[in-house]
Amino acid sequence: MLVLPIKPNGEEEKPSAVVSCHSHVQKLEMDSSNSDKQNNNQSVNEDPAGVDNEFCPGFKDVDAFVKYGLGTVVAATKASASLPQVGDEYDLYRSFPGFQEFCETQGDGLLHCMSQIMHHHGCRAHMRDRNKLTGLEERFDLVVDSNDVILEKVGILLDDAAGVNRSQQPVMPAGFQPPKIVVSSWNRKVQKQKTFRLLQAKNVTRPQLKFREKVDNSNTPFTPKIFVKPNAIKPLPSYFTNKHIRKERPEDLDVPAALADFIHQQRTQEHVEDMFAHPYQYELDHLALPENLLSKPEPQMYKPLAETKCSFIDTLEDLVAVNEKLAKTSEFAVDLEHHSYRSFLGITCLMQISTRDEDFIIDTLELRSELYILNEAFTDPAIVKVFHGADSDIEWLQKDLGLYIVNMFDTHQASRTLNLGRHSLDHLLKLFCNVDSDKRYQLADWRIRPLPDEMFQYARADTHYLLYVYDRLRVDLWEVGNGQPALLQMVWHKSKDISLKKYMKPLFTEDSYMDLLRKQKKAFNTQQLTAFRLLYGWRDKLARQEDESTGYVLPNHMMIKISDILPKEPQGIIACCNPVPPLVRQQVNELHLLVQQAREMPLLKVRHAWGAMHWLFLQPEIPLFGPHDTSRVSESDIPSFTPDGKIYLKSIVNINYDTVKDPGHLTVAQQKACRVVESFQNPFRMYLPSNDIHISKNAKFDPSTKIYEISNRWKLQSVEQQQKEVEAKKKAKEEAKAVAGVERKKAKQSYQESLQNVATVRQQASESIKPGGKKRERVASETGESTPKPNKKLMKAAVKKNEDSTTPLVFKPYDYSQSDFKVFAGTQPHVFVYVLSDFGHDISQKSNACAGNRSMSFFGGKSER
Ligand code: AMP
Ligand code: MN
Ligand code: ZN
Repeated sequence: MLVLPIKPNGEEEKPSAVVSCHSHVQKLEMDSSNSDKQNNNQSVNEDPAGVDNEFCPGFKDVDAFVKYGLGTVVAATKASASLPQVGDEYDLYRSFPGFQEFCETQGDGLLHCMSQIMHHHGCRAHMRDRNKLTGLEERFDLVVDSNDVILEKVGILLDDAAGVNRSQQPVMPAGFQPPKIVVSSWNRKVQKQKTFRLLQAKNVTRPQLKFREKVDNSNTPFTPKIFVKPNAIKPLPSYFTNKHIRKERPEDLDVPAALADFIHQQRTQEHVEDMFAHPYQYELDHLALPENLLSKPEPQMYKPLAETKCSFIDTLEDLVAVNEKLAKTSEFAVDLEHHSYRSFLGITCLMQISTRDEDFIIDTLELRSELYILNEAFTDPAIVKVFHGADSDIEWLQKDLGLYIVNMFDTHQASRTLNLGRHSLDHLLKLFCNVDSDKRYQLADWRIRPLPDEMFQYARADTHYLLYVYDRLRVDLWEVGNGQPALLQMVWHKSKDISLKKYMKPLFTEDSYMDLLRKQKKAFNTQQLTAFRLLYGWRDKLARQEDESTGYVLPNHMMIKISDILPKEPQGIIACCNPVPPLVRQQVNELHLLVQQAREMPLLKVRHAWGAMHWLFLQPEIPLFGPHDTSRVSESDIPSFTPDGKIYLKSIVNINYDTVKDPGHLTVAQQKACRVVESFQNPFRMYLPSNDIHISKNAKFDPSTKIYEISNRWKLQSVEQQQKEVEAKKKAKEEAKAVAGVERKKAKQSYQESLQNVATVRQQASESIKPGGKKRERVASETGESTPKPNKKLMKAAVKKNEDSTTPLVFKPYDYSQSDFKVFAGTQPHVFVYVLSDFGHDISQKSNACAGNRSMSFFGGKSER
């Protein structure tokens, strides 16, 4: 009876004429008894010799079972369709006691059978309790729920069988073993297949633990780490130079650093834009290149590796010595290695520097707080710093080390300007030095210490040849530019633009999840969307708190799978993840609550186009992506591909096949997949009424009836009715729009007013902090303007918790759905909006007492170039 209603190939589906749940149950009952009998017969007749090899009793393999199963289902459907129709016919039959009696015994038997199956699957199963008046509706719910659970299990098992769940997780440091060969063609855009080696280590101690200055993962903009400014033309604003004094403000101890700094700004009336400006903006804007850099150079050959000294620098003393050596050069090459899997913002692990005669490998984990001293050489306009592809390096230098570059030459930009075709460092090394470098260790876990020799040598090669490459590129630029400096100037100019880049911390906003979703080209219904939003918030919060990457907390594809499936049980969430991320396992109950909350949303289908599917099949090229580093490209850009380039079945399964207009594009296998998925969509479809069936119109439009709910849930309405409803909705929407328009105008006006009153708001802010300890209370008590309508069940739970104030506080993820995230609106240039309730980790508890926020606006620094 709970056999999945798989549609036989090619056969047109004929909705049977069942209206009330009552006759629905009866119909099922007869089919079931029928098939049971056949099943028994078959097992009895089977040759006992074959039993050992049987797939299951009576069936020698899966095909035999499926064939038989489909036959039975077809027979059942036919039998069901030929039952007396509801309305006159059924009522007539029912007036015969024999018929009634037969139906009742069959009904009992069937309900018993259903109960057993449901019991077997761990679902609630009181199917036989016919006493209550509401029994029918409840039982129908039970069936729907159970079918969901069973279908979920089937889906998971099918995924498992198809290998969908395997090997998606970025490589976890799991054993410092000889490097594994990993085919990572999926890393590169067009290139031929390449073999990469991933070096991992077991139990790498988290370098963050040793950082003198704690990492600031709070949802606040990044402020430069700099506090001394060598080579300054324009002095460093006092905001930065007074940093050491600020450290002693006792009242700021429990406030995130950026907020404390901001409040301090208010108090001291300093310019807020200083906090966010590029500290070397002025120097870079006024950088004048010496003549000799704009002429044709004489290339200076690199020294052979064997004859070059290479030192590992991990003490301050050695670093000072390096700094002194660098200060005496006129150019040196720099590169960084970075790790981003086990940290929220990523960690710069290594800095390679090569002068014309020496290589240095600097341990940026060990010397993290000391490296700022290199600013002396790094910002000296008389010394050229050569990088290859510095976009990320510039940001990492600022983020972790407080370092800036004045006077840079980026060989990647030179290669582009020369149209060399390929612009990777390996290509340039091959071209100019005939060195076969491979980038096997690019994705290694660079936190490993002591640094294995292979990685050491790899890192060294990244800068060793770079000054020679710089010379050769400049010669080419000169020659291609017909002996004019124009092309050289262009590269210097582009490189300067890169130096001017500012590191931006990823900020969580109300709609960050939509950005990710848009990239996934995913079409979700309202419940799935809600789940996705809640999971996204949970993940962001936890990642910041635990200082892990969001990909480590819950990879995108798993988050999508959970939102897609909306598992009813915590085990269902676990089953969506393979391997299960540790934090998911640990907090599966919180996740389950979020999914439950999403399931309580009214279900609205979000229609989507064939385009989404088209995209999935036609986009084999995937942007650069690696297991550790997501900084270059958002990981969300990557559809679910297996490492060998195949699309996950999952992606196919997620497509709404109703909207596929042109299945002619599909391969046989994809068409088959379509059919299978279709047959899974609605387990009751074949039992559901078509429009010529009599359903009480009142019932259909009365939200309190089951029919109404079912109609909505399974989209039973006739086309005209649907159209009518759409029109009605449209109308309502337009009306609402008109109202919203007026509201928006009002809001805009008040926002403009508040901008004009920035000073007043600031004064308020500084006043609010004057009485020291009082500040926190104030923030808490003044919050509470716009909270989304809270979920009833959760509210109840929260109330309960509040009442029981003696129970110890357990970690409860902050419910992002309940807060207002008008934070740091990126669309408003020059303006940051702080929402106080978003700061700090203890917010979740505080906001229990008083949800909402109070916001302050102020002007940020100059916009990015
Ligand atoms: P490189 O400049 O090539 O030495 O790369 C510096 C850092 O960028 C590496 O340590 C990685 O963290 C990151 N990275 C480089 N290439 C990739 C890639 N293909 N995918 C992801 N991250 C990368
Ligand atoms: Mn690099
Ligand atoms: Zn490198």
